[in-house]
Amino acid sequence: MPEGPGATALPGGEYIRERFDDGKRDLSRPEAPAPLGVPIYDNHTHLEIKDGDDFPYWAALDAAERAGVAGVIQVGGDVESSEWSAALARQDARVLAAVALHPNEAPGYAEAGTLDEALARIDALAAEPRVRAVGETGLDFFRTGEEGQRAQHASFEAHIEIAKRHGIALQIHDRDAHDAVVETLLRVGAPETTVFHCFSGDERLARIAAEHGWYLSFAGTVTFSNARNLHAALAVADRSRILVETDAPFLTPAPFRGRPNSPYLTPLTVRSMAERLSVDADELAAETAANTVRAYGSWD
Ligand SMILES: [Zn+2]
Ligand SMILES: [Zn+2]
Repeated sequence: MPEGPGATALPGGEYIRERFDDGKRDLSRPEAPAPLGVPIYDNHTHLEIKDGDDFPYWAALDAAERAGVAGVIQVGGDVESSEWSAALARQDARVLAAVALHPNEAPGYAEAGTLDEALARIDALAAEPRVRAVGETGLDFFRTGEEGQRAQHASFEAHIEIAKRHGIALQIHDRDAHDAVVETLLRVGAPETTVFHCFSGDERLARIAAEHGWYLSFAGTVTFSNARNLHAALAVADRSRILVETDAPFLTPAPFRGRPNSPYLTPLTVRSMAERLSVDADELAAETAANTVRAYGSWD
């Protein structure tokens, strides 16, 4: 059992959710990769979710630091995890926060009649100096029917307004909804810094993003050998608009697919992307780090 600052400092404790365990995954923690030659950042992670062994946020951040990951963006998906994310960013210099209602959570708030109240709370958190993004918001049509999609659209557009009002980045969750996301951004006007988190599009969407100056954040999925659409997207992406993330504890990069993910594994994704692009890994690391700081501001 790791020892650290303890659970009392954050609302809800060291974890506020646990990842569903189907009993079939290998829950052992992957070994840490060697750091890259320059500091890098994980611009999208969920440290509030327990997965496998006890590995709370402070242990994850220490491990990340040892692997050369200098900072992370801790991302909320409902009011509770957004409060948690903002609180962690207030107390740990390695953390900035993103706050939002996830598109899969928005229909629940709408049904309960509390969507406006929840959005007001997100708006208040977005004013905090270490909250640097509104996310993850967006559209997710994977399991959502028509009624739920209406709530997602309303919530997404409200989040775009919040990001613009506070002059901070927008982190978009887009699952099976590429055209609708692009249509919304063009209709209501995208924030100056707009990020497709866990980019899942193809070459066509990567070209549209490059045209508008939108950022593509690549997760562990880009390391999978069968992810041909992502490899094609990476090849045509604007290098000044590439970011890297873990989306931990999900989407663990190769060769550890399925095991618990954590920000300390970010170097694996950078190295895999550099190999695909036939560029030096430290060069790509320095570029993505500079892109990250341009998109969200500095961690200091
Ligand atoms: Zn997401
Ligand atoms: Zn996420």
